[in-house]
Amino acid sequence: MQWAFMAVAALTCSVLAVPVVGSYGLFAAWRAKRRNADGACAACGTKWRELGPDAFEYRVQGHQVCASCAGRLRRRLAAELIGLAALTIVSGGLAIGGVLGASAHGYHFAAWAYGLLLMPPVALGTVGWGAVRRMRSLNRKALDGPESSPALGAGGA
Ligand SMILES: [Zn+2]
Repeated sequence: MQWAFMAVAALTCSVLAVPVVGSYGLFAAWRAKRRNADGACAACGTKWRELGPDAFEYRVQGHQVCASCAGRLRRRLAAELIGLAALTIVSGGLAIGGVLGASAHGYHFAAWAYGLLLMPPVALGTVGWGAVRRMRSLNRKALDGPESSPALGAGGA
């Protein structure tokens, strides 16, 4: 039954990861938007007037951040995407390992169970791909200026 356990673990990981990551993302976006509205860096909350004139040059995930935060956030974002990719590979590996292992032991899943097992890697891959796409589109919108992007908040996650 260890194979079935692996499959269940893979499913549980992804089912828990998606809402946790999603709700944190929503919170972070809300806080960043509020700080920008206050005329401050989205990441550290430092007011623009306390920073140099180049402060508006930096955009991360559609929000305006100061120079020191921009570099930090970009590195963190890269690490998060790598983490998500790793999670996708691990959950996919667990799911495939679970199916193959179970089959090798003469245990067969119903057709719907195979679909369920494929969900974790597919869901995580979709979230990661969607995050990159959304980030690019937000950055493009932010180029229009801070006041002309109502979609930043309306778009949700
Ligand atoms: Zn900052």
